[in-house]
Amino acid sequence: MSFFILFGKQDYDSKFQVNDPNVLPSIKDINRKPAICTEHAYYCPNCKNLTVEPIKRKEFITIFFVPVVPLYWGKQLHCTVCNWRQDFSNEQELQKVKYETINMLS
Ligand SMILES: [Zn+2]
Repeated sequence: MSFFILFGKQDYDSKFQVNDPNVLPSIKDINRKPAICTEHAYYCPNCKNLTVEPIKRKEFITIFFVPVVPLYWGKQLHCTVCNWRQDFSNEQELQKVKYETINMLS
């Protein structure tokens, strides 16, 4: 008798909805339009683009493609160009990142 179990890993990223839109850098704040199709983006310290967005991320170990064991569940800043990631815990931190973005570009 033989059988196999198919393991895998699946990531689920979704857009993080902010309660306070003021924590997102606007075109007026940064005086430059983000490069990639988004109105609000943070500065990426890795690739130097305005392509970092807040996301909700969940990572699971899957068995037969069914998510079973959570590996990570949280909020991240994610660069859509270079895949740079950093965790954040609340909107106050986003506000700080916004000021860093504005300072970097002014
Ligand atoms: Zn980047």
